[in-house]
Amino acid sequence: MGFFDRFSTDVGVDLGTCNTLIYVRGKGIVINEPSVVAVERGTKRVVAVGAEAKRMLWKTPSDIMAIRPLKDGVIADMDSTEKMIRYFISKIIPKHQLIKVMRMRIGIPSCITEVERRAVQEAALKAGAKEVKVIEESLAAAIGAQIPIQEPAGHMVCDIGGGTTEVSVISLGGMVVTSAIRVGGDEFDEAIIKHVRNVHNLNIGPGIAEQLKVQIGNANPDKNIEKMQIKGSDAITGLPRRLEIDSVEVREALKDPTNQIVEEIKRTLGKTPPELTADIYERGIVMTGGGSLLKGLHKLVSKETGVPVILVENPSECVAIGAGQAFELFKDMSSDRSIYDNLNN
Ligand code: ADP
Ligand code: MG
Repeated sequence: MGFFDRFSTDVGVDLGTCNTLIYVRGKGIVINEPSVVAVERGTKRVVAVGAEAKRMLWKTPSDIMAIRPLKDGVIADMDSTEKMIRYFISKIIPKHQLIKVMRMRIGIPSCITEVERRAVQEAALKAGAKEVKVIEESLAAAIGAQIPIQEPAGHMVCDIGGGTTEVSVISLGGMVVTSAIRVGGDEFDEAIIKHVRNVHNLNIGPGIAEQLKVQIGNANPDKNIEKMQIKGSDAITGLPRRLEIDSVEVREALKDPTNQIVEEIKRTLGKTPPELTADIYERGIVMTGGGSLLKGLHKLVSKETGVPVILVENPSECVAIGAGQAFELFKDMSSDRSIYDNLNN
């Protein structure tokens, strides 16, 4: 047993465009907060991170700026990404404890470039981690969903985040096919905003649109019709106005982005070697990411593709859990299939 095995803390990080989650081996998920940093405009001093900073996102006074440091899964603002990681690490590791013994594995989108991947690792190293490895998010999601990824059998993972949906086929611990589209939970919100403006002449904010989606959204026709009262401003007069919206209308609004996801899954199935397709038809598609929580989406996907969908208990936590558990899992494998080396070595 090496030094790391005895004294290190294995940490898995899901550095999402919407939410950052941190998993610590032996403890579980310890951080689950929005990926938002609020800084003072002039000095760039950080005034809030995470949930507190998100509350400032759409309502910032002019001297404070709320930043989402990640865009489409990659770092858009290096400085604030590092500050955000540093802040979350300081929340989970007591000051006196040596950060040096933390080894971290971060989930990254598979379409990321070498430069972008290095930026992620550098940000984490600067924030104090001793060893930083990365893992493709789909692979991490599969591990976190407890799929036996080393088996010589095909598994499909569909991760729906805020800005992107990544569909991958995994076999023998590696990715066989993968593709991503820039459609995710945020596009669902935008589609609702557009629909309400076009059909009802009412402007609503992204927060209300997300509430409609989470509370009464349903991608699959359902006998049970739910309703919600919303407030917005009239697109013509600019005056505040109330409106009642039901789940049928929300589904109508979501048709385009949900269909794009279905089509992406079909396309990926089409690119998959036939032996693996047979496995997937038998084992089903695993859906992860916050976007997969949209009610009825698993039914729609299953209906449209003819493939069963496996529901996991904690779809938004899978990437962080899987990234953290990958150290253990890959320990005995001759080759760590997360192909990238530690920057330090
Ligand atoms: P990322 O990986 O990009 O950080 P997440 O996996 O955290 O994204 O997913 C964020 C998305 O999930 C957001 O668009 C959010 O609105 C959506 N979401 C979270 N919970 C639900 C829910 N219960 N129903 C529908 N959408 C949800
Ligand atoms: Mg994600």
